Amino acid sequence: MALGRAPFRPPHCPNPACGFHRDPRGWRFKRAGFYTRRARPRRIQRYRCLRCHRAFSSQTFSPTYWLRRPELQTPIYEGLMACAGFRQLARGLGCSPSTVQTHAARLGRHALLFLQAHLPSRVTEPLVIDGFESFEHSQYYPFHANLAVGAESHFLYAFSDAELRRKGRMTPFQKAKRARLEARFGRPDPRAIEHSVAALVRMLAAAGEDLEIRSDEHRAYPRALRRIEGVSIRHRVTSSKAARTTGNPLFPVNRMDLLLRHGGANHKRETIAFSKRRQSAMERVALFSVWVNFQKSRSEKRRDATPAQVLGLVDHRLSTREILGRRLFPTRVPLPEPWERYYESRIPTRARRCSVPRSRRYAA
Ligand SMILES: [Zn+2]
Repeated sequence: MALGRAPFRPPHCPNPACGFHRDPRGWRFKRAGFYTRRARPRRIQRYRCLRCHRAFSSQTFSPTYWLRRPELQTPIYEGLMACAGFRQLARGLGCSPSTVQTHAARLGRHALLFLQAHLPSRVTEPLVIDGFESFEHSQYYPFHANLAVGAESHFLYAFSDAELRRKGRMTPFQKAKRARLEARFGRPDPRAIEHSVAALVRMLAAAGEDLEIRSDEHRAYPRALRRIEGVSIRHRVTSSKAARTTGNPLFPVNRMDLLLRHGGANHKRETIAFSKRRQSAMERVALFSVWVNFQKSRSEKRRDATPAQVLGLVDHRLSTREILGRRLFPTRVPLPEPWERYYESRIPTRARRCSVPRSRRYAA
């Protein structure tokens, strides 16, 4: 597609119903003319599958398919990694905040597939888990992004979300407001953390294997781990009062919390760039995971290998071009729960009843 690269060859049939979608061995297709578009490159090669006769183009395999401003994808990815808010990015790029939002959601979905496609087949190190606290819509709607981080590699293996009830010190006015909101929109499941952490560990626990889980003394964690069947789990608890030094067994996840808070404008305390919806917050966690696993050194000072290199998943630090080089298809990379729900935009925001699942909207 771009100059200086090998000529594009469609890797498989894009039609999920075609036998050559998942397994392209023996696949044949033919060239079928060109079409022109407003964005560069203007001339796009078309093809046709000789089995199912589906027409497609080189664009079908680009993560920018159907986007009106494909040239914005890389700058938006890099802007989001550099902690910019949607409005800030929109101003800098000369587009509307809703365009940035469309791109960010697309990038988040790509990140979920990218992560799943590159996960190691089994976990061979202890996992450190913790809940990263943020909020959606307003401070009345806190949630946890639960993270599972490799104790040695610092690879961020998985994440899941849990809606929480607002707790802590509140003025009488705030208490009354919470009661009003809860009467109107309902209350989160009091076992949300338990369910969410069980889902998190289930994503990584292959039946019959041993897993060591490290965490703080949160009471929901032992209950969550008891829900997981067929895996022998050793649970090592460290007090959250222990000094937060590099020697702390929870250091890998404490570091991840810091990076996430530092790297995303939506998670800063007292920010006005907080996520309006948990859905988009989880998309950003997915993007953050790609960056932290495949692009960022474990130690910024030493500029050493990325976590993915430490695990032997790749042999070099990936460039943004490599990460965004090829569209991934959910029909070829099945996602586990809850990532499938994130992909399909099925995370409701309690205070915004109108959040429409993506599948019911027209496109992309
Ligand atoms: Zn086909």
